[in-house]
Amino acid sequence: MNSIEALVRPNIRTLSPYSTARDEAKGAPDVFLDANESPYAGLGYNRYPDPRQKVLKARVSALKGLPAENIFLGNGSDEAIDLMYRIFCTPGRDNAVAIEPSYGMYAVAADINDVELRPVPLGADFALPVEELLAAADANTKLLFLCSPNNPSGNAFAPSALMELVRRFPGIVVLDEAYADFSAKGSLRAAVRECPNLVVLQTFSKAYGLAGLRIGMAFADAYVIDLMNRVKYPYNLSEATQELALKALETSPEENIREIVSERERLFQALPSFPFVRKVYPSDANFLLVQVDKADELYEVLLSGGIIVRNRSRVPGCSGCLRITVGTPAENDRLLQILCNYA
Ligand code: PMP
Repeated sequence: MNSIEALVRPNIRTLSPYSTARDEAKGAPDVFLDANESPYAGLGYNRYPDPRQKVLKARVSALKGLPAENIFLGNGSDEAIDLMYRIFCTPGRDNAVAIEPSYGMYAVAADINDVELRPVPLGADFALPVEELLAAADANTKLLFLCSPNNPSGNAFAPSALMELVRRFPGIVVLDEAYADFSAKGSLRAAVRECPNLVVLQTFSKAYGLAGLRIGMAFADAYVIDLMNRVKYPYNLSEATQELALKALETSPEENIREIVSERERLFQALPSFPFVRKVYPSDANFLLVQVDKADELYEVLLSGGIIVRNRSRVPGCSGCLRITVGTPAENDRLLQILCNYA
């Protein structure tokens, strides 16, 4: 057994996955009496979707420059986060390590799976605490969750520091790159071909504007991808989702990304001039973390002006902070106008 196999829960290592009728069939049948579907087409969704998402995966493969065997597609990257626990962590025994503050689902999915999550605080100005993360691991540690650019702090970590953790951490390193399309530091997904313990998560929910479709991606060694495919629900991406994603991927999000990055810089320049703004953290993502004098009060003021932001002021390391997503130029103007009236 190699070192990655040894990390997998024994029941998952030996799992016989559900096999769909069409997986088992050979030839090119054109009458489908195998899956108890309706023969009446209706809106065109009477058949089960392709459980392996071959056509969409080929498109994602071309887009991301990795072979299909290194790609998992899921119901948002949230599905991939949950799968990591279900594949690697024996409930009530194993544990995971994560940076704090970070994306809340690492902790919620840990709780759901009865897995201890060990939060390790980021350093000053949200620096990556490499040695502390390594020190938090013990013999039952299976996973390390990293997020770059990090939510809610907004900063991307140095690729060299992330790769050092991949090399030295004694378990699977899950690097969540949901916001990488907005960052000049780019992605480390190509490294999954050399690093069997690295899982890189990305999503079509942010830069690609498809949050409502629910499509997340994981890039990893073929062995880990195979485990994810065995454990997922067979039909985790609906036919409509796969079709609409293919259509959406005919156009590039580059222009929208450029506008969001330029609007992020405009807000980054404008916000510090308000007397109640204490600090605007530099961001490599599509949001800004802003520390203000009275976070709860300002949150309500924005809400009564029709703008909802994320109040992160009770999150460790984020006291007094609101997280503000970058909107359209008109939406950002409206935000600034409310702040002018509040000042
Ligand atoms: N990772 C991070 C860091 C996020 O902020 C989010 C969404 N807020 C997700 C993953 C979940 O993305 P998805 O829509 O692909 O489930």
